[in-house]
Amino acid sequence: MINFNVPPYLGTEIEYVSEAIRNHKICGDGEFTKKASAILEEMTGTGKCLLTTSCTHATELAALLANIQPGDEVIMPSYTFVSTADAFVLRGATPVFVDIDPKTMNMDADLIEDAITEKTKVIVPVHYAGVGCEMDKIMDIARRYNLLVIEDAAQGICASYKGKPLGTFGEFGCFSFHETKNFSMGEGGAILIRDEEYVEKAEIFREKGTDRSKYFRGQIDKYRWQDFGSSYLPSEMNVAYLYAQLLQRDLIQTQRMDCYNTYRELLSPLENAGRIELPFVPEYCEHNAHMFYIKCADMEERTRLIGYLKERDIMAVFHYIPLHSAPAGLKYGRFHGEDRYTTKESERLLRLPMYYGLTKEQVIYIAEQIIAFYGK
Ligand SMILES: *Cc1c(COP(=O)(O)O)cnc(C)c1O
Repeated sequence: MINFNVPPYLGTEIEYVSEAIRNHKICGDGEFTKKASAILEEMTGTGKCLLTTSCTHATELAALLANIQPGDEVIMPSYTFVSTADAFVLRGATPVFVDIDPKTMNMDADLIEDAITEKTKVIVPVHYAGVGCEMDKIMDIARRYNLLVIEDAAQGICASYKGKPLGTFGEFGCFSFHETKNFSMGEGGAILIRDEEYVEKAEIFREKGTDRSKYFRGQIDKYRWQDFGSSYLPSEMNVAYLYAQLLQRDLIQTQRMDCYNTYRELLSPLENAGRIELPFVPEYCEHNAHMFYIKCADMEERTRLIGYLKERDIMAVFHYIPLHSAPAGLKYGRFHGEDRYTTKESERLLRLPMYYGLTKEQVIYIAEQIIAFYGK
């Protein structure tokens, strides 16, 4: 059986997790958190990275920092994971969904301006499959309308747009280290904070509304309740697992790239024959092999292909049900403009197995089965 995903495990994680336990430091913000945050800051060239318990929580933290109030509007794609919307709906905001560009499956930047009202506060680009959104256009709109940008870079680690890492364009960039992502800690995430002015507030919201982070750095002699807040810091045991992976990120990335490139090479004849479509990556975007998908003719063909692959022990899966058509999306959000591509393209997209440890032989086998399906 070839699973769709296997959580990344290199072997060294267990040593670092044991070390956290032996050091009697398993709560948050210990040495592993310090070291892992420093690596992420170096990788992205950002001043401040705070680890969180998930990307969902990183986005919630961003929504608090953006001072989202009931009635505010937040522009985002409908083709995304629920967390993108949840973080803002929790604060009483309305997600305003715009259509995607069918080539990248990212929000179509040319549709954003028309969706802006006097209530709009934030734009949330989601970098699907680690392929960057049109950040030049998005940042220009944000500047002209005085909006904040919160990047859902859950899938975007190690990827860049015009040479600049994803997650570093907007005021805040949110990453996921869930077990389905390139680097993992089981459940976990991080927020990148672009501007110094937000750092102190972020530390307070993340630590139950206290200035405990300052206290730990020896900057004050007691910590107190300063504001409302929550608890978004991950356990050192989880961070130790992530730390091992960040140290060996090149190994993980090289292997994922190999799988991605093998899929592309073997399946491109089917694309050239007009039978399927493969992921499109603009030349100024560097992707991170987070995902490999194909697009079938329609949902009916995709359903047949999923069954065909399953019979051959291959687990391939579809992705998001557009948020605007889901019960909570109907209740809390609205779609601006026409749904030309979101629903149609989401029904055609099929994700193939992709994880650290997937072998080249397995990728070849999967590609051969897909070719056989279309050959018959
Ligand atoms: C994985 C993912 C999330 C959620 O990440 P968690 O760490 O599980 O909270 C949010 N947005 C996108 C686009 C994702 O792929």
